[in-house]
Amino acid sequence: MGLGSFIGSIFGRQEQVKFNEPVVEELNKNLFMINTLAFEAEVGHSELPVVVDCFTKTCPPCKKMGPVFEKLACEYESKVKFIKIDLKGSPEIGKRFNILGVPTLLFFKDGDLENNVVGYTNEDKLREHLDNLLEQQSGNSPSEVENMTNNESTKEDMHVWTSKYADKAGYMLNPDEESLHLVLEGLARNRNKHGKNYCPCRIVTGDEQEDKKIICPCIYHKDEISNDGSCHCDLFFKKKD
Ligand code: SF4
Repeated sequence: MGLGSFIGSIFGRQEQVKFNEPVVEELNKNLFMINTLAFEAEVGHSELPVVVDCFTKTCPPCKKMGPVFEKLACEYESKVKFIKIDLKGSPEIGKRFNILGVPTLLFFKDGDLENNVVGYTNEDKLREHLDNLLEQQSGNSPSEVENMTNNESTKEDMHVWTSKYADKAGYMLNPDEESLHLVLEGLARNRNKHGKNYCPCRIVTGDEQEDKKIICPCIYHKDEISNDGSCHCDLFFKKKD
C-alpha cells in the first residue's frame, strides 16, 4: 500500500467501523487498526512487545506521525507489533490509560504498560523507545520461567485479596473473567517486579512518594468508581442496585 493510500485508509475512511465487536484491520505490514474490544487479545496477550499509537483523525501531529509509524512497523516486523487506535471510536482506551493528548504512544511488554510518550515523536526518538522496549525483552530465561510461576501464585493471592477488599468496601470485582484475569496478572507482575501492588494501568515512575499513590487500591479508585462506575483499570465496580 502506498503512503497516500495508507494515510487515506486511516484518515479518510468513510465506512462505518463496528464498535460492538472486536475489530482488527490490517493496514499494512505489521500495522493493525483495532478497537477497544480487540485490545486485550491484540495487546494484553501479544507474544511480541507492542507499541500503540493512540490518535484522532483530526489532529495534525497524528497525521504527521502516521508515515513514521508505518515505516518503523515494517522495520520492526517480528520484533514489535504496531497497533493504531482511534480514540474517537475507542474512548475507553483513552480513559483507561489517562491519555490527555494525542498522539500518545503506549509501549507494552507482556501485557504491561512500560512507557508512554505524548506528542509527535520523530523517527529517531521512536526507534530509541522501541530499542529500549526490546532490551527489556529477553525471552524466557530460567529466572523468567520462575517469575511466571511466581506470578501465577501471586495472581491467586491478588484474587483473594481484591475479593476481600471489594466485599469490605461494598464494591464488586469485574464480572468479565478475561478482563479481571488481565488486571490481576498485571498486579501480580508488579508485585513480583517492584515488591508493591502497583496499578497495572499506570506508570511506575521510580519516585517512591509519587508511586505510593498508585498502590492498589490507589488513591483515585473511590472517586473513579463513584463517577464512572469502575476504577481506572476496571478491577473494582460499583455494585448494581
Ligand atoms: S483500584 Fe486503582 S490501582 Fe487498583 S486496579 Fe483499580 S485503578 Fe488500578
